[in-house]
Amino acid sequence: SDLKKYTGIVEDCCCDYETVDSLNTEVLHPILQELVTMPFFRYFKVKLWCDCPFWPDDGMCRLRDCSVCECPESEFPEPFKKPFRGLPSDNLICQEGKPQAAVDRTLDNKAFQGWVEIDNPWTYDDETDNAEMTYVNLQLNPERYTGYAGPSARRIWEAIYTENCPKYPTGEFFPEKRVLYKLISGLHSSISVHIAFDYLLDESTNLWGQNLELLYDRVVRHPDRVKNLYFTFLFVLRAAAEYLEQAEYDTGNSEEDLKTHSLVRQLLYNPKLQAACPLPFDEAKLWQGESGPELKQQIQKQFRNISALMDCVGCEKCRLWGKLQVLGLGTTLKILFSVDSQNHLNQPLQVQRNEVIALVNLLNRLSESIKFVRETDEIYELFFLFW
Ligand code: FAD
Repeated sequence: SDLKKYTGIVEDCCCDYETVDSLNTEVLHPILQELVTMPFFRYFKVKLWCDCPFWPDDGMCRLRDCSVCECPESEFPEPFKKPFRGLPSDNLICQEGKPQAAVDRTLDNKAFQGWVEIDNPWTYDDETDNAEMTYVNLQLNPERYTGYAGPSARRIWEAIYTENCPKYPTGEFFPEKRVLYKLISGLHSSISVHIAFDYLLDESTNLWGQNLELLYDRVVRHPDRVKNLYFTFLFVLRAAAEYLEQAEYDTGNSEEDLKTHSLVRQLLYNPKLQAACPLPFDEAKLWQGESGPELKQQIQKQFRNISALMDCVGCEKCRLWGKLQVLGLGTTLKILFSVDSQNHLNQPLQVQRNEVIALVNLLNRLSESIKFVRETDEIYELFFLFW
């Protein structure tokens, strides 16, 4: 089987593949799945207008399922935009004509309390610009196949790889130079895995299911793409472990908030995780040298370009998840660039609520991808055995 190749330590990380798999299946995945349903993590604030600065002719995707259940400005009560003032009304229904997505369209009426808005240096989107931003319930909009493909999608990936994170040869002396490429490639693998996991198999009967051939073609048969997925997972896990304990999970519902805190602690202080993989990624080995500040500036600049490219993604749901996950990676870098050579945060770090939401949802996506890739490995094994 292809995945049998993955043994030993994940490149540039501190844990091996087998440990990551068992930790993920037994501990991380179940906790993360629950965590992302909590009110604090369900909603993401995002600018969804397609405002592409590079290719104004970009086409939109062709399926209805691409559209995001967006909550129009008129349905969004003033107090949500100005935290701590009054209570929003109860009956907040999103507008989307897709019955199978109508699981929970009601926004939690206190979930937005304490949401402070700032302008984020890692993205081009100004969170304080309320006229352009909307809150989206992520639970109603799973990342899946949308039909978005062709030249529009291809040129975005191409622009990301060729202009903003070139692939350095594996023998490259400075592993930090490879980090951005590996993170983007790992994210790309994860997006492909989710497309394959939740695929429209038959448009005429609206039959959804798994597309194992696509998974194999786009991810599993490319060992470096699988390795980058594991790398990205450990990198994001390390940042989550460093920061999540000190974040505030205040939605105004103390019972739910306590549960959120408790799940975060279960995730971070799990004895299995502490014993088997206490430091998923050792950032102290990277970018601590003299070139550290310069490298940070360079990566931040490349990252802002990648974030701007997300406005060119011609499919709303892809844009939503693209923006969220790129913000999640940006947050990860922001956190790990702030730790010192002893692996401690060397300054009080301001991480905004939307960034924490992006970080955890990204971690959950990566965790799902790793689980799915491993599970299907057994199926491929059987397939090749009998073929
Ligand atoms: P692509 O995935 O477009 O890949 C293009 C090229 O990149 C490949 O030919 C290969 O050379 C290289 N490549 C592929 N994978 C990797 C990797 N892991 N590491 C390094 N290089 C790689 N479609 C959906 O259906 N649902 C979504 O939610 C969705 N979200 C998207 C989000 C973004 C930000 C973008 C840019 C696209 C998204 N798409 C989504 C489209 C999807 O990613 C593919 O572009 C599309 O399905 C066409 O796939 P493809 O086979 O042409 O290869």
